[in-house]
Amino acid sequence: MKPNAENLNDLITRIMPLLKTSVTIINQDINTDLNEIPKFLMNGKEIRQLILNFVRNALEAMPNGGEVKITTKLENENTVLLSISDQGLGIPPEIIKKIGTPFFTTKENGTGLGLAICYNIAIKHNATINIDSSENGTTFYIRFQLK
Ligand code: ADP
Ligand code: MG
Repeated sequence: MKPNAENLNDLITRIMPLLKTSVTIINQDINTDLNEIPKFLMNGKEIRQLILNFVRNALEAMPNGGEVKITTKLENENTVLLSISDQGLGIPPEIIKKIGTPFFTTKENGTGLGLAICYNIAIKHNATINIDSSENGTTFYIRFQLK
């Protein structure tokens, strides 16, 4: 499929009902903070998959509930920042190193493929992924270059 110039905010708004179906615990919630950003070329299906994978992990990291926050903003004239944060237990340093390695999982029934797919999609979109994690939660930062 050819990439299309799309507005990431519109895409996120469209898939919110789908994302919310992944909420399984009563005191879990997903909220957005969508700020004005320009359209850029993307494969909408892939970006939807990327967001879904991050959000599912975020929810799975909060077995006792909490908020997942999806934020977009124009970080600078050349960069759209998408961040997905959770209030889970965080990722220990020895695990961070292995993140994105296909089949790496710490879950009993995990596939270890979600993040590998995210990294793949990010590379295809010329985007970078950074992680900020502490015992108060984790944020994944995805930065798209506009030109
Ligand atoms: P899976 O979800 O099947 O385990 P992923 O590739 O999606 O595979 O994630 C790999 C591993 O990364 C997870 O098993 C987990 O240990 C860690 N991880 C990913 N996202 C988070 C998060 N938001 N909070 C804590 N750990 C995470
Ligand atoms: Mg996963």
